[in-house]
Amino acid sequence: MKFKTMAIATLLAMGSMAASAQSNFDAKFKNYPTYSGSDLELTVNDTGTHWRLWSPEAQEVLVKIYNNGKGGNPIETLQMQRHPDNGTWTASVPEQLYGKFYTFQVKYDGKWLNETPGVWAKAVGVNGKRGAIIDFAATNPEGWSEDKGPQVDNFSDVIVYEMHHRDLSMHPTSGITNKGKFLALTEEGTKSPQGQSTGIDHLKELGITHVHILPSYDYNSVDEANLQENVYNWGYDPQNYNAPEGSYSTNPENPAVRVAEMKEMIKTLHDNGIGVIMDVVYNHTAENDGSNFSLTAPGYYYRHREDGSYSDASGCGNETASDLQQMQDFIVNSVKYWADEYHIDGFRFDLMAIHDTETMNRVASELKEINPSIFVYGEGWTAGDSPLLPERRALKENVSKMENVAVFSDDLRDAVKGHYTDASDRGFATGKPGLEETVKIGIVAATAHPQVDYSKGNNSKFPYATSPEMIVNYVSCHDDLSLTDKLKHSMPDEPEENQLAAAKLAQTIIFTSQGTPFMFAGEEVFRNKKGVHNSYNRPDSINAIDWTNKNTYRDQFDYYKGLTALRKAHPAFRMTTAEDIANNLVFDEIDSTETPNLISYSLKNHSNGDAWEEIKVVLNGASYPQSVDIQKGNWKIVALDGKIAPDGSLGATTGGKMTLAPYSAMILAKE
Ligand code: CA
Repeated sequence: MKFKTMAIATLLAMGSMAASAQSNFDAKFKNYPTYSGSDLELTVNDTGTHWRLWSPEAQEVLVKIYNNGKGGNPIETLQMQRHPDNGTWTASVPEQLYGKFYTFQVKYDGKWLNETPGVWAKAVGVNGKRGAIIDFAATNPEGWSEDKGPQVDNFSDVIVYEMHHRDLSMHPTSGITNKGKFLALTEEGTKSPQGQSTGIDHLKELGITHVHILPSYDYNSVDEANLQENVYNWGYDPQNYNAPEGSYSTNPENPAVRVAEMKEMIKTLHDNGIGVIMDVVYNHTAENDGSNFSLTAPGYYYRHREDGSYSDASGCGNETASDLQQMQDFIVNSVKYWADEYHIDGFRFDLMAIHDTETMNRVASELKEINPSIFVYGEGWTAGDSPLLPERRALKENVSKMENVAVFSDDLRDAVKGHYTDASDRGFATGKPGLEETVKIGIVAATAHPQVDYSKGNNSKFPYATSPEMIVNYVSCHDDLSLTDKLKHSMPDEPEENQLAAAKLAQTIIFTSQGTPFMFAGEEVFRNKKGVHNSYNRPDSINAIDWTNKNTYRDQFDYYKGLTALRKAHPAFRMTTAEDIANNLVFDEIDSTETPNLISYSLKNHSNGDAWEEIKVVLNGASYPQSVDIQKGNWKIVALDGKIAPDGSLGATTGGKMTLAPYSAMILAKE
């Protein structure tokens, strides 16, 4: 989703003006009875097939049973019975109706609403209009009961690779057969025409620990019945939260196929030591009155203004109401379902600040009970004002009120490469002075540090994180210009070698900073999006990664590979407490008004149990060479002039005056 940090800054500044509470229109919803049992909507067991729909204000509810996922008349219609006090309606048949489809139809305010698969359909027909009754045990790949993602001791150990299924595999040069499908990541041994590894082999070669897949639940915008039309969408338009998207399966008409193929993808990634993080968008739905939420319990799941219209903190027409019990339970139980049934290793919450901190704390703590390695993070902002009070929002600024939840740091994002709202704006890594302190905020993962002056921060004015595990650092993601496009726009008169150098420097800052590093797929091969920033519905010709790049920019790839290897081998870059950072990360005194675009710091005292006694990181974002005085000693050269080699093959130095090339990083290590 588009980042709207500016809007949030404005909102916070507005203070009490923004602090409208829940509207009177919404007040009645608080009194609804709630129900969060795992038998919501559909259960198949020895006694038959059972439905239970939560719809407190319905006047009548029907279940309609069909032979097909679309078309045809119901083969049976059941009248549901109202439960006396928990807001649910139930119906049963004694048979196990595997292979059949169903919808609910609710009579509300004297009118029959359109049919809906409900909000808890775990399998659906084509385009998600009907729930499907399938045997989930039959969708499990071989060995599924023993399947497990990588163990994560600290979230700063994770290296996130954000990818869209089509970006990674659609280009003719991917060498992948199942292009744009979940199965693309099950194909091992795939190569580009130049013989470079692609797909899952590429991910292993690069050394990331987790893929973060863009929305992969069933979304609305792609017509699954017309896939030859080749439509592309990021998928931030949720339809069925608990079933996979059909267009990523090889057969969207068969509801079991998408389930089985998504599990197959996850199993293959897990077998290769890679975790799977899913992008989740509980903050809004694609439709308003026509959404599954609205068709089951009209009004309830959303926030409204006083006049009853949908409030719109998502910028997409509505916002959901996690502060209401049934919605909070829905979010919590939905992510738990994905963790249980699909073995998902993490969740990235879109526009997380539309949710309240209490909900996010429940999400993290209940997921932790299923698997302590599950990583939860999100966008700590909204895209517009909300009736939810700012102090309750899961904002970046409130991250310390949450446990085991991390937020994206926009500090590094905007300071390193230039602001996202202005394509030509430069950043620290591309020669713009005055951003040194904001970069330092990123380096210390927005924790309190005696040498960082937050009053000079561009995006943040106080150390909002009390632990580096609360911070995800990045320089770019699917939103906005890709790093490559940003560098091309902001360095138009410079040769490509300078842009490549700046990309390396920018990513060095991300990978050496405290917190969790996050990168956008393909930037390791200098992928671009042809200058399109909001490419959410643009064709594959804009979005797909051209794998010939891996040959053309092999040097770039090798550098990124060096960054992942360095980070994984050296815990000093992955400290776990703010105290450790304050004690062991020491900046060298540089007057940035006299010597701009130069930052130098040490990680000392075998930080976090590192084998290296001291690591020196020097960052030169200027368009000219800059020098630093390195204390005398026996230093191993880890990175210099656009090369990186954690094994020390770049040689050694005894210190003294060291000069850095324009737009480059130097990393030295003392054993
Ligand atoms: Ca869909």
